[in-house]
Amino acid sequence: MSLNLPESFKELLKSKFESAVDSGSLKFTESHEELVQDGDITFKVRIAPSLAQKPILRQDEQPKSNFNPFLKPEPDLYLAPLGSDYSLVLNKFSIVPYHFLCITKDFKPQSSPLSERDLEATWECLNTAIEGSKILAFYNCGKLSGASQDHKHIQFIPIPESAQLLPDIALTYGLEQSKDAIGQFPARHPNVPFTHFVLPLPKAPVGEDLAMIFSSLLARTLTALRNYNQSKIAFNFAMTKDWMFIAPRTQESYDDIAINSTGMVGMLLVKSEEQFEKIKQLGPLTLTSSVGIPKAEIDEKHEDY
Ligand code: AMP
Repeated sequence: MSLNLPESFKELLKSKFESAVDSGSLKFTESHEELVQDGDITFKVRIAPSLAQKPILRQDEQPKSNFNPFLKPEPDLYLAPLGSDYSLVLNKFSIVPYHFLCITKDFKPQSSPLSERDLEATWECLNTAIEGSKILAFYNCGKLSGASQDHKHIQFIPIPESAQLLPDIALTYGLEQSKDAIGQFPARHPNVPFTHFVLPLPKAPVGEDLAMIFSSLLARTLTALRNYNQSKIAFNFAMTKDWMFIAPRTQESYDDIAINSTGMVGMLLVKSEEQFEKIKQLGPLTLTSSVGIPKAEIDEKHEDY
């Protein structure tokens, strides 16, 4: 793959993050984490009460309508170019340290699927694990997936090396054969009630491998949306060095609890203890299922992949 991160990118990420917090360009929100078990999946719920307080913005910080923060990234948040088509920037509103984004240099819509080049860039960014962590990449595609910016951006957060997310557990249930080019039907966790698809990744994939795996997941996602009479395409995508995951979406939030790709793989974010209580009462899988599509059997004989 010809897309390469600068040699000392990890050091740059660390030092830029610290200086952006110090200068106030990056607004870091304190939070604490609680665990909620649902079957054999341990959901991590991050509680950030200060997100509920409306920030008081200076006049020059007031959001302008149609303002695109990614067309001209803030210098304090800018990290590096990635190839000729992408820029890497720090997330301005971080809850997790070192959260960064890979954005397209020119405007491309967030409602478009990931291209082979996007997937190559994503794979490259997975090489940025800092001490004891691995990187989770995610892409909220379409308004109903939890995306707030229309300019194409793939996001990256460090998670503990030992983290076992929903796709890791789904893969332990095994893969069946498929008639498609991949030859494997994506794994699905038998006790997760929403439609989702997971495929394992080879150790050193080339762009074409990533594109084929993504196409296999996307084709089934589009079929699920069509069969559920959804006219708007929205899905959550997540990826580590081990797997790719997709889940179609039909709702942006449940009862004011916003859910994006990280939530669908087992990492939820709430703004209050009340919302956390709601998740415990409801159960995280019932919550995530309410914004997805109920799981249905897929008959490969009647679908063409
Ligand atoms: P999403 O809400 O999934 O579309 O992701 C958009 C991301 O961009 C969020 O993580 C925001 O915190 C982040 N963001 C918003 N404004 C800026 C900005 N000016 N610079 C960098 N990141 C931003």
